[in-house]
Amino acid sequence: MSRVYNFSAGPSMLPEEVLKTAADEMLEYGTTGQSVMEMSHRSKEYDAIIKQAEADLREIMNIPDNYDVLFLQGGASTQFAMVPLNLMNKNNKADFIITGQWANKAYKEAARYGNARAVASSADKTYSYIPKTTAADFDKDADYVHICMNNTIYGTKFNELPDVGDIPLVADISSCILSEPIDVSKFAVLYAGAQKNVAPAGVTIVIIRKDLIGNAMDFTPTMLNYKTHSENASMFNTPPCYSIYIAGLVFKWIKKMGGLEQMKKINEKKAKILYDFLDSSKMFKGTVVKEDRSLMNVPFITGNDELDAKFVAEAKAAGFVNIKGHRSVGGMRASIYNAMPIEGVEKLVEFMKKFEEENA
Ligand SMILES: *Cc1c(COP(=O)(O)O)cnc(C)c1O
Repeated sequence: MSRVYNFSAGPSMLPEEVLKTAADEMLEYGTTGQSVMEMSHRSKEYDAIIKQAEADLREIMNIPDNYDVLFLQGGASTQFAMVPLNLMNKNNKADFIITGQWANKAYKEAARYGNARAVASSADKTYSYIPKTTAADFDKDADYVHICMNNTIYGTKFNELPDVGDIPLVADISSCILSEPIDVSKFAVLYAGAQKNVAPAGVTIVIIRKDLIGNAMDFTPTMLNYKTHSENASMFNTPPCYSIYIAGLVFKWIKKMGGLEQMKKINEKKAKILYDFLDSSKMFKGTVVKEDRSLMNVPFITGNDELDAKFVAEAKAAGFVNIKGHRSVGGMRASIYNAMPIEGVEKLVEFMKKFEEENA
């Protein structure tokens, strides 16, 4: 067996230790005589799995008691509709900061249900920076402000939260969840599809302040109402059982690694190796302004499309896969989520140095 270094933006690498545990437990979980995949979601064994997963996530992220944790389906993209349906309920208004495709999709979907306003955008420079805002930029009557915390495609991150005053802040944290500590109490809602940093695709994590639940628009489908899932502890219908089980193993792995402070240290170390090289290279360049760089997604270019394609092909042959940039931006992108070991990044940089020498 030879496993590659997978720099995919998502679905992406999972910790090898987690995959091994899952493999060991594939045919029989505990002494149940069955796989978690085959288990009734109403069984006491599964109940213990989902409850432990929630408890571990609450511990790792330090989630206050006045927040619900929901394990939903439909990906982050379903949250683009679910958030406005449930939250745009006082003045039917929401403000958006447009920092890339995902932020824009959230904005466009919300505009179907109410008055969505783009407050700021970095589209003018291919989303290579996070636009600056002040409290005065936001509508005091807005039901919420939405941001995409880490912009997976462009490699930017809000390293500082916008000042939104008393307006509830909603954040898509799909590609940065669990990468570093986050002060949950600053947010009304946090949501993340699992397939970047948590688990296989299928489960979407929603962390929502409890007082915001229960005011959905009248025509909100039952399945898109947070109340439905809150009242039923994410068991209104069959949850994505196996993804939640793997998420639970990942939470245990993070605890063992030392929690989010430790993940942050490791992630900063990994990102620095790559960014330092990009800043010193004559061939490769990062595409994002320094202060807004992401810890998780690192886009870079040579400035020559043919050379980019050659690099992607040779990297793949050398065992560094999925390093091609998003189809909308080209170039390269190395996604270095929690499960990417430090040596994966070190070896990639060695490979880039060699490529630069050979193609200078
Ligand atoms: C991947 C991604 C999405 C889309 O997630 P799905 O689960 O595929 O709907 C949304 N937002 C961000 C920031 C992402 O990285």
